[in-house]
Amino acid sequence: MKALAYEGEANVNVVDAPKPSIGGPTEALVRMTLTAVCGSDLHIYHGRIPGCEGCVLGHEFVGVVEEVGSEIRRFKAGDRVVSSFFSSCGHCYYCLRGWFNQCVSKATFGYGKHFGDLGGGQAEYVVVPLADHTLEPIPHDLGDEQAIFVGDILATGFFAAERAEIKPGDTVAVIGAGPVGLMSIMSAQLFGPARVFAIDMVDSRLELAQGLGAVPINAGQTPAVDAVKAATGGFGVDRSIEAVGDLAAIASAIECVRGGGTISTVGVPNHASGDFPYLQMWSKSLTFRSGWCNVQAYMRPLLDLIAAGRLQPDAIISHRMKLEEGKEAYRIFDAREATKIVLTP
Ligand code: NAD
Ligand code: ZN
Repeated sequence: MKALAYEGEANVNVVDAPKPSIGGPTEALVRMTLTAVCGSDLHIYHGRIPGCEGCVLGHEFVGVVEEVGSEIRRFKAGDRVVSSFFSSCGHCYYCLRGWFNQCVSKATFGYGKHFGDLGGGQAEYVVVPLADHTLEPIPHDLGDEQAIFVGDILATGFFAAERAEIKPGDTVAVIGAGPVGLMSIMSAQLFGPARVFAIDMVDSRLELAQGLGAVPINAGQTPAVDAVKAATGGFGVDRSIEAVGDLAAIASAIECVRGGGTISTVGVPNHASGDFPYLQMWSKSLTFRSGWCNVQAYMRPLLDLIAAGRLQPDAIISHRMKLEEGKEAYRIFDAREATKIVLTP
């Protein structure tokens, strides 16, 4: 089958990989009908994730179930499904407490041997472990482009907004207007903020943010934190969301919040550790939340919000390409010439 494989830094290629097959009773084989390139794939692309050499990439995908293991109850061949970017069992210590992102059997698609060694979704076929809990059925009236992002970036944006504790009338700053930041803005609007500021350096992304009702701030042209403070009477915003994965962005998220405010970060850190302004956090009584999205808790309600017309995540798709064009897709997404790329087999 055709697949995209990581073959070294900035080197993603279309390869002929063996078609995977079901290895256990709780697995499902899915024929991919749409996949996407994620900002998290760029961490691999830049050589920051060890153990990915030769691995089939991709963790955002929808498709049609082709075959199920003997213990699968929720799905049968022919069902249209969207996958979370990681697997979870639904019955371990963590899953029973609703923390699916901590599942003892968690594994991430297409993220190499240190993240569970699963095949990726940027391929014609993918095997989904623990499929009853990892997949969600797609309602008949939703297309693939509408459904795909509930398995990763939309769930992450919603998770970020929910954990920012946005109240009606609040001001919110979203640091980073990439796909995850744009999904955070879209989700934040559901909580009734008075104003949302979007901070990035890429004009095309800031224009999309503005289209979602945010006030754009180009951090390449103006000191962003100063701009946010100037627009909020010198106090700073009530809530900030970081959607970059970089220490400078975390610092901006902390600095632009008022005393008593909340910071919610979802960017995958590109450093294992960094300075934390503990005294500033303490003296300003700030709440700091960060984390790996708890996707499985959000897929169902997000599909319902999309079906009801309350969210249009497909609006951020800038490029529709073929899997064979994967190498070029990675190049233009990394260069920020594309906002969000989806690929068909
Ligand atoms: P992306 O790389 O396409 O977007 C990042 C954006 O941040 C870019 O538009 C860039 O111009 C902007 N940026 C960079 N530095 C900045 C700064 N200092 N201030 C303001 N803006 C800045 O990636 P994405 O797909 O939007 O993903 C964003 C992050 O979210 C990545 O780290 C990704 O791995 C992570 N992520 C986390 C989860 C999770 O579960 N927590 C899930 C999905 C993605
Ligand atoms: Zn992702």
